[in-house]
Amino acid sequence: MKPAAFTYHRARSVSGAVGLLAELGDDAKVIAGGQSLVAMMNFRLARPEHLIDIARIPGLDTIVREGDALRVGALVTHHAVETADLGPDFRVLSEAMRWVGHLPIRTRGTVGGSIAHADATAEWCLLAVLLDARIVVEGPAGRRSIPAEEFFQGVFTTALEPDELIVEVEFPRPAPRATLTEFAERQGDFAIVAAAVDPDAPRVVLGGVAQVPLRVPAAEAVLAAGVAVAEVGEAAAAAIDVRDEPGASAHYRRALTRTLVTRACEEARTR
Ligand SMILES: Cc1cc2nc3c(=O)[nH]c(=O)nc-3n(C[C@H](O)[C@H](O)[C@H](O)COP(=O)(O)OP(=O)(O)OC[C@H]3O[C@@H](n4cnc5c(N)ncnc54)[C@H](O)[C@@H]3O)c2cc1C
Repeated sequence: MKPAAFTYHRARSVSGAVGLLAELGDDAKVIAGGQSLVAMMNFRLARPEHLIDIARIPGLDTIVREGDALRVGALVTHHAVETADLGPDFRVLSEAMRWVGHLPIRTRGTVGGSIAHADATAEWCLLAVLLDARIVVEGPAGRRSIPAEEFFQGVFTTALEPDELIVEVEFPRPAPRATLTEFAERQGDFAIVAAAVDPDAPRVVLGGVAQVPLRVPAAEAVLAAGVAVAEVGEAAAAAIDVRDEPGASAHYRRALTRTLVTRACEEARTR
């Protein structure tokens, strides 16, 4: 299917894009890599009358190390992160990108688009919660920075206002032992369950088991106690509240959670 008709606008600056969003209101949508939005438009799940293309706004495609922090521009692609040398402190970001779709998707899809789209199994959403990221957004009133845990609010729902643009994602602290692993039916599919662990925080975050990337405090407490990693997996599996769904029963998701959290902890321990 083809999308419904729309008017195309190319934004040349962040303020230009924000101005267009404010002027065009609910009828407008930003497009970055188009890897989620175009599919939604083709299926008529989204019918924006105006598309504001931000792909050529200069300055939003850089990765900058600033002291302990890493600042990733909204237009940085998954593939750029996959192939960047981020050093041991942030290697989990590069490593996690191999789980995102296929190469053509990774070469076009962007960090900002993934965070704005807010799929609860998306790797960027898990990584943002895992590493205490702050989502930096700009609107008509200027810039603000939103902690990832507050940013994701429900199924495809975020704290982003309709006239705001994500400009960058700030990862404030090194996470040299953090890991992310997942299971999907076919390579390139979204995960059925994904697990991310940072033993130094300590932090355990799950995708695919709730409407948002889910922190599991019970498993984090077990992780902090330094006991056998299988007990962390067991604690995570016991803590989640999952229902049977087409394609994946609650029992299956719980078993995947147990296995993947244990595996992520084992990988982290080898670092
Ligand atoms: C077959 C397939 C498999 C995939 N598998 C995975 C996967 O395994 N894991 C995964 O994480 N993703 C997966 N994706 C999605 C992919 O990662 C997308 O790139 C990503 O979700 C959206 O990024 P984008 O730049 O393409 O955003 P777009 O599609 O352009 O936009 C997505 C949404 O974000 C908004 N938006 C975009 N940029 C901004 C911004 N800077 N500020 C505010 N709003 C913005 C848009 O208005 C739109 O609502 C898959 C996609 C496909 C087609």
